[in-house]
Amino acid sequence: MPVPFVRHSEVDVLIIGAGPAGLMCANALANAKVNVRIVDKRAFKLTTGEGDGLSPRTVEVLQSYGLAERVLKEACQVHLAAFYNPSSTGGIELTNRTSNVTAPSARYPFEVALHQAAIQDIFIDSMTPLGVEVQRSTIPTSMELSKDDNELADPTSYPVRVVLQRLDKSEGEPQEEIVHAKFVVGCDGAHSWVRKQVDITMDGEQSDSIWGVVDMVTPDTDFPDVRNKALVHSNHGSVLLVSREQDRIRVYVQLEDKDVTDPVTGRVDKEKMGPEQILETAQKSLVPYKLIRKSEFLWWTIYSVGQRVASNFSINNRVFITGDACHTHSPKAGQGMNASINDSHNLAWKIALVVRGWADMSLLSTYESERRKFALDLIAFDKMWSTLFCGKPLTEQNNDGVSPDHFFKTFQTDFTSGIGIHYQPSVAVNDRNQELASGLVPGKRVPPYKFMRAADAWPFELQDLLPSDFLFKLLVFTGDFSDPLQQARVESMVTDIQKPESFLNRYATHENSRFDIITISKGRKETFNLFQLPTLLRSHWSKVFIDDTDPTGSFGGEGYSYYGVGPEGAVVAVRPDGYVGAIAPLDRVGDLDAYFASFMKIPADA
Ligand SMILES: Cc1cc2nc3c(=O)[nH]c(=O)nc-3n(C[C@H](O)[C@H](O)[C@H](O)COP(=O)(O)OP(=O)(O)OC[C@H]3O[C@@H](n4cnc5c(N)ncnc54)[C@H](O)[C@@H]3O)c2cc1C
Repeated sequence: MPVPFVRHSEVDVLIIGAGPAGLMCANALANAKVNVRIVDKRAFKLTTGEGDGLSPRTVEVLQSYGLAERVLKEACQVHLAAFYNPSSTGGIELTNRTSNVTAPSARYPFEVALHQAAIQDIFIDSMTPLGVEVQRSTIPTSMELSKDDNELADPTSYPVRVVLQRLDKSEGEPQEEIVHAKFVVGCDGAHSWVRKQVDITMDGEQSDSIWGVVDMVTPDTDFPDVRNKALVHSNHGSVLLVSREQDRIRVYVQLEDKDVTDPVTGRVDKEKMGPEQILETAQKSLVPYKLIRKSEFLWWTIYSVGQRVASNFSINNRVFITGDACHTHSPKAGQGMNASINDSHNLAWKIALVVRGWADMSLLSTYESERRKFALDLIAFDKMWSTLFCGKPLTEQNNDGVSPDHFFKTFQTDFTSGIGIHYQPSVAVNDRNQELASGLVPGKRVPPYKFMRAADAWPFELQDLLPSDFLFKLLVFTGDFSDPLQQARVESMVTDIQKPESFLNRYATHENSRFDIITISKGRKETFNLFQLPTLLRSHWSKVFIDDTDPTGSFGGEGYSYYGVGPEGAVVAVRPDGYVGAIAPLDRVGDLDAYFASFMKIPADA
């Protein structure tokens, strides 16, 4: 018998699983020109169903990769949330209608609803021209991580050996390949194979609620909030209704255990209930309103939810898990896809910097410290929110029920927008000098604000000057450069930052800087001359901005006060993922040396 040929290959990053987490990771790494491969067991890409909501912060993140425009074009914007509770005459009544997103600094102050398959397509279409495609019908069958400490500590080594098997090859064709990877990212969902291989446990429990979901064309209805998000508490159970793209809606219905679980195994049995019965349950809860299906269901499912977080998000900073592989929670807070996309957004730049030799491996530890803390907060919120959402409503007969006011106030705490994420101090977040820019908080994302480009008074959103291109951005708030005292301070800062021992030179390669300098001055468009600035602060005319109103006088001009930056200015280092990393005063810009020294590496050719 001939010995079957087994191909060996090397790759910097092997991603297992092409859901939102895997595709985001692959797309981000492809953008960073990292050698990446992504495999998935599914023979075909997803076409419908599953997650469907993107939070305001996720849209900001997608914008930083140039993907938000298409998302917004295809999606439905959900601006209002309506709250229904039992009425005194039976049935339900509207008790509140409010903004669906209450975070005041949200650039996109609405939720974006689009089915998961469409979102996945956007990632796929973005990375295909970059030469990365999902290798389908492929599963890993074994994974070994080197135990050699030297190999594990060497970022150029390939310490993870994964055997991949093709499921679509006929007999006689090679079906196996051995991949030697620097890093493996397990994005393989709630039942993650990768997680099991490295003995990471999921801590938490199964929630006791079971949900049915149906997608359909907007039905024949007199329910006034059919095109909003409606959160319905009724005496027959809870319903969540979300408007969707292309005249569709999704209805989530709380189901009784006895109706959908197998009495022997205790597991959800999809044979026991179909979409018609799910809709009937919703209809009972929505009385006196009607909700009559006009055409076939587009998608449906039934599921119970575990509220769990993985004990670790990484092993030796070589094997990582992201997305549902490391946290599962109910869909009611709409965080499934969001948390998955943002895990990968957090991890990708760190891996890219390590692979390029720009950052020390220790930077990778901040993936777990930042994202596991977020996941624990998410589960805590999900438990509270689910208890309120699934609890019986407060009525005369049920004094212990959920009060509409309490439910509404909890909704307004706005955990779900993603805007409030605050990563704690670490090598990647230095919280010194906060008083110099109170609105730019180390560990939080840069809030949006529009500045005028000095050369042509063209208004630019600051977030758009911070693309996810794997460079650190230095926001230099010069203050008023026409003030001689301030001019002297800025020039002295420029001298300091250009010294050979300064981070700007220490970590620059001969070909590339790792930093993009964006200058934001105080000044009026009528009089400002960008060429008066030191050359370092105007590497290109397009890099200088002023805090002034737009030419029509409609907006702008309050950026310094919005970000809490005083007339003395400041330098703010923004991480490649758009989160503030560190702040320094102009006359002590060396504070940034310590920040970058904590994780950056001097280039080999320096
Ligand atoms: C049936 C279902 C219904 C859902 N409904 C909702 C909903 O209504 N609302 C909501 O907000 N969220 C919903 N979710 C959750 C939401 O889809 C997830 O939170 C989100 O997709 C997580 O993204 P992910 O990339 O981490 O995992 P997934 O989307 O699960 O992607 C994992 C990928 O890994 C692949 N994979 C798995 N194992 C292997 C393996 N061994 N080898 C290779 N590939 C592998 C899978 O084929 C899949 O493509 C639902 C999920 C499921 C499964």
